[in-house]
Amino acid sequence: MTRAYNFCAGPAALPEAVLQQAQIDLVDWQGRGCSIMEMSHRGADFVGIAEQAEQDLRDLLNIPANYKVLFLQGGATLQFAQVPLNLLRGHASADYVCTGVWSEKAIEEARKYAGVNVVATDVANNFRSVPAFNTWQLDPKAAYLHYTPNETIHGVEFDFIPQVDVPLVADYSSSILSEPLDVSKFGLIYAGAQKNIGPAGIVVVIVREDLLGHVKAGTPTLLDYAVSAKNGSMYNTPPTYAWYLAGLVFQWLKQQGGLTAMAELNARKARKLYAAIDGSDFYANPVALANRSRMNVPFTLADAKLDKTFLAEAEQLRLLNLAGHRSVGGMRASLYNAVPEAAVDALIDFMGDFARRHG
Ligand SMILES: *Cc1c(COP(=O)(O)O)cnc(C)c1O
Repeated sequence: MTRAYNFCAGPAALPEAVLQQAQIDLVDWQGRGCSIMEMSHRGADFVGIAEQAEQDLRDLLNIPANYKVLFLQGGATLQFAQVPLNLLRGHASADYVCTGVWSEKAIEEARKYAGVNVVATDVANNFRSVPAFNTWQLDPKAAYLHYTPNETIHGVEFDFIPQVDVPLVADYSSSILSEPLDVSKFGLIYAGAQKNIGPAGIVVVIVREDLLGHVKAGTPTLLDYAVSAKNGSMYNTPPTYAWYLAGLVFQWLKQQGGLTAMAELNARKARKLYAAIDGSDFYANPVALANRSRMNVPFTLADAKLDKTFLAEAEQLRLLNLAGHRSVGGMRASLYNAVPEAAVDALIDFMGDFARRHG
């Protein structure tokens, strides 16, 4: 059986080589007579897997030594609460930039624990761009500034990293590892795994050490970053299998040439697809050119009545999961690291053919 081309926004495509390795390891990991899922997380074998995964991630992102890397649960959504619970540090409020649905959710959750100052929002423009930095209403007393570098649903990506005097916090769920990143510019980065890291069930947090240890009173023990940091993310049983698979993805990324190579490939994939959309009267993408996401490409057809036919024909060609998010409709092609260039080429061919027949 050959694999389909999978454009799912998340849980998203995994590298075929990673799945093949997992298949080899599944029943009997390295002759131990059992699967990784059946091993103690405290045993030398799993601890080795966990430490190697962390080291590989540190190598890929060049993470400075004064940052902790945590492998947690609850997805990016729990981070919407865990960030204010840990990083408020006695401050009254935090600054948030609102560039789409995921920013909105982060803001809504933070309001339970903190004063929230929305420094800029593109809601009036239907989230089609990132508000210019010189218009942001920053509060110098804010505990931190939170933003969403890549809005997965609206396909809006920042073309800059904000430079502010307070700790910078970023929800990198849908674009982490897609290109090199200067981690030292951030106080905290978090990313749910199921877009560009591994299977669902794990979330990676990269946090500067000096921000730890000030958790709000009454916070559950498991939500204190300092507790996870002290216990190697094993205060309780971690999602061992997801951690192992994330580790395989990190090794695969190194084999591909690391994040510089991924950045080139990702830029090429996105450029091609946007060129196909812009070069046709039949397809459209509404996002400002400077803020078009390299990872998630939403587009509409000239006639929304053709959406169902488009999706059905695509599926017949085994181009899967192209429906846009239920909140915005239309189409969306997610082009994460594990989506090969050949998948994008096949999609562009199909789109051209479909437009000729239905346009
Ligand atoms: C998918 C996504 C989330 C939600 O992730 P969960 O793991 O489902 O909680 C949050 N933020 C962004 C940017 C996302 O893409």
